[in-house]
Amino acid sequence: MTQTVAFIGLGAMGYRMAAHLTKKFETVYVWNRNFEKAKKHEQSFGTKAVDLSIAVQADIIFSCLPTSHEVETIINSQQLKEGSIWVDCTSGVPESAKKLTQQLKDIGVDFLDAPVSGQTIGAENGTLTVMIGGDKFAFERALPALQTFGSLVKHVGESGAGFAVKAINNMLLAVNLWTVAEGFTTLKAHGVDLNEALECINASSGKSGVTENVFAQRVLNRSFPLTFALPLLAKDAGIAIDLAREAKLPSPVLSLAQNLIQAANLASEGENDFSSAIKLYESWSKITLN
Ligand code: NDP
Repeated sequence: MTQTVAFIGLGAMGYRMAAHLTKKFETVYVWNRNFEKAKKHEQSFGTKAVDLSIAVQADIIFSCLPTSHEVETIINSQQLKEGSIWVDCTSGVPESAKKLTQQLKDIGVDFLDAPVSGQTIGAENGTLTVMIGGDKFAFERALPALQTFGSLVKHVGESGAGFAVKAINNMLLAVNLWTVAEGFTTLKAHGVDLNEALECINASSGKSGVTENVFAQRVLNRSFPLTFALPLLAKDAGIAIDLAREAKLPSPVLSLAQNLIQAANLASEGENDFSSAIKLYESWSKITLN
């Protein structure tokens, strides 16, 4: 029987995801580098802000950090408990998942790569999609905890498979984002009303997650709310392109999209939402999408 769970990394996603664990678990440890966030979480949701060394003694430990690098650093700095499961919800690197799975197996700890999709709103509502790679039995043990914040929780294959699915998903997001910028700029150049055009496209075959959930909500209204940082999308596109290269596959469109998103990331000043990548195209076309 699982008794304790822990969540490490209370960022835009983790802060909201960890709150749902209290629905099923009496003891939910939380830890964050900036510890004030952990204390605030304890006050708001009845979790328990603890030292990292205590959090990692839970039966199931969740992490949601920027990259696999931070996850590896934290795991390598701690003494883990035999029989526990580490569930990493970071959008990470498949090779890192494979390495950590082997490393932790030697000390009797399971590692699952369990990245999520659904943005901060999905984390808030507990309706995330969770794609999991790793040992099936460990997945089944972690499932009740995963279901507290996920409405679609899928085992997609061996270690690294979850990270791979997430990277390709976000690469498709990047491709869509860029092509929506080009397509709607073309329409604007021809004097078409973009809101009317969007309504038509969202009822037609060219629609996508970007046309349905991003373009009106973040770009046309010029709000670009910072919920998923552009460097994180650039990181995900990089992971995806590495996967295509490792498989020796031609991937001209994906390579181009990765380059464009990375260029937008480098051109962007300060902390910006992923949707602001469109601004690079606006600077080229000298047409603002509003
Ligand atoms: P944030 O930048 O909001 O949060 C990052 C978290 O990691 C914070 O808790 C931060 O702590 C912590 N952290 C950063 N560096 C370190 C470090 N060196 N050591 C310890 N802790 C560290 O990121 P998100 O929550 O947006 O993203 C987290 C992961 O989820 C990423 O992999 C992202 O790609 C993925 N993701 C994000 C989505 C989104 O919509 N935002 C959607 C789906 C997936 P501190 O508070 O101290 O800075």
